[in-house]
Amino acid sequence: MSKRSFLRGAVLAAAAPLVPAAASAKSFSEPKWDRETDVVVLGYGGAGAAAAISAHDAGASVVIFEKLAEGGGNTAVSSGGVMIPNNEERAFQYLAKTYSFANSEIDEEQLRAFVKESMKTKEFLLSLAPDQKVYVYGYAGFQNIPEQDAIEKWRFRTPKGQKTRGGDMLFNNYRYAVETVRKIPVVYNARGLELIRENDEVKGVWVEIEGRREAVKARRAVILATGGYEFDQTMLSNYTMGKDFHQLGAPGNTGDGVRMAQAAGADLWHMNALSCPLGLVVPGLKTAFQINMLAASWFYVDQDGKRFGNEKADNHTGVYTVNVLDPIKHRYPRIPCYVIFDEKARQRGPIVGGATSGWAINREGYRWSRDNSAEIEKGVIVSAPTIEALAKKIGVPEENLRATLEVWNKDIAAGEDKAFGRPIQKKGKSSFEGREAPLISAPLDANGPYYAAKLVPTLLNTQGGPRRNQLGQVLDPFRRPIARLYSAGELGSMWGHIYQGACNNAEACVFGRIAGRTAAAEKPWG
Ligand SMILES: Cc1cc2nc3c(=O)[nH]c(=O)nc-3n(C[C@H](O)[C@H](O)[C@H](O)COP(=O)(O)OP(=O)(O)OC[C@H]3O[C@@H](n4cnc5c(N)ncnc54)[C@H](O)[C@@H]3O)c2cc1C
Repeated sequence: MSKRSFLRGAVLAAAAPLVPAAASAKSFSEPKWDRETDVVVLGYGGAGAAAAISAHDAGASVVIFEKLAEGGGNTAVSSGGVMIPNNEERAFQYLAKTYSFANSEIDEEQLRAFVKESMKTKEFLLSLAPDQKVYVYGYAGFQNIPEQDAIEKWRFRTPKGQKTRGGDMLFNNYRYAVETVRKIPVVYNARGLELIRENDEVKGVWVEIEGRREAVKARRAVILATGGYEFDQTMLSNYTMGKDFHQLGAPGNTGDGVRMAQAAGADLWHMNALSCPLGLVVPGLKTAFQINMLAASWFYVDQDGKRFGNEKADNHTGVYTVNVLDPIKHRYPRIPCYVIFDEKARQRGPIVGGATSGWAINREGYRWSRDNSAEIEKGVIVSAPTIEALAKKIGVPEENLRATLEVWNKDIAAGEDKAFGRPIQKKGKSSFEGREAPLISAPLDANGPYYAAKLVPTLLNTQGGPRRNQLGQVLDPFRRPIARLYSAGELGSMWGHIYQGACNNAEACVFGRIAGRTAAAEKPWG
């Protein structure tokens, strides 16, 4: 055999299942079923809703079980952005590039299925509820990647006179399509516990409903749409780097779907991939706030009082800029880090910007004060009359913080951030086209008062979980589908370290639809 044909053989062997389907016939003691349906959907966020809609429309009976007392998950507190490509092939080329430089695993077949189905997303969104409008609010997150103009970010337009925004608009429309139009039953306070299997086939699921354990039979399939593991600190410490993780989203996402899929033999992927900006913690709240400075006169420093990067680089990957572990001094010198700003920046507006998304705002009802004064009172922001006094208050070396301020002010006044290349003005295709681009870097005032606030990693979502294929089937480590088990959404997301933005809602919508209709096409087992 030539070396070439041997290698080709090896590649083929790797693509095919390496071991035969397991033949062990463990005895199946069928439980007494408390309920039954064709397709069980666990989790009622965007992915669960889209899966239920498409399974129902393909002719299956469906029941959704949601762990919390209300549906929506991260979807309903998100910004509601959904990536929809304007060109299938060019969007594929762009998105494929986001994997390679980060060394994240790509499944090209799955990505092709995603962009193909995405071309129908606008039509699907508009079909959810009557009289809705969608609009483009943004473009590719990485303008320096070729074919970037194939990417558009869309969301529902809030009707005149209404206040509902972003994720709530998106989820309200899903809810209308699920509950009002299709009358699909949704059971709340119902937590999926463990899959019920016979040999290697999923037959149903144990669900805890209001504290009672029920066996739910799934004649065709179970679809896991339980979100990520943002709220499981043990999983975060085992699968990712960093510490002091806080969350911006829904507290039901504790990794249940990962464990259920693992117990059924699923392979895991993208476990170390996070969508995670830096943000602030307000004592007494369950969830945190993403930092979003409205002014230009600010920078970040580490625990040594030194800047460590371009603070305006991609937002979703904020965590990667602070994930530096110092094994000699036994610390993460950038967790926490600090935002340093001046009086103009304090007065300019909330240091969390005009945020409208997130659990803290939309479910815990916290309103950040316009001039940041309430947060100064709470100690979230500290102030001092001089930069040296500020350094003392936050415990960083005074001489370093003073030097950092001097260099920043000198370089920015001269028109260039020599240290890290943070632009002076906003760049890229944006809604300000035709007008002067906003200033994003400016010197701080020569005199105090100065302000500082502690920043930690604040998760939008995790990406990892059970690996699925282009049909939404959950795969085992040998890439064999686990019979009658499907998944969708951020649980086992297709996205790696580098995340384009608006693609998690898009994936939930697309793979919800794909998994729903494939699951509905399964032959009932009983
Ligand atoms: C503040 C914020 C803003 C964001 N903005 C955007 C954006 O604009 N665009 C974008 O693409 N992405 C955005 N994201 C990310 C995106 O919202 C999520 O990744 C996406 O909504 C995931 O959808 P999902 O259906 O997979 O999960 P979710 O919407 O989180 O739904 C999962 C559901 O499963 C339930 N559940 C968990 N365990 C169980 C169990 N054992 N049994 C039953 N139910 C269970 C949960 O309670 C939850 O309701 C944002 C995230 C946050 C937090």
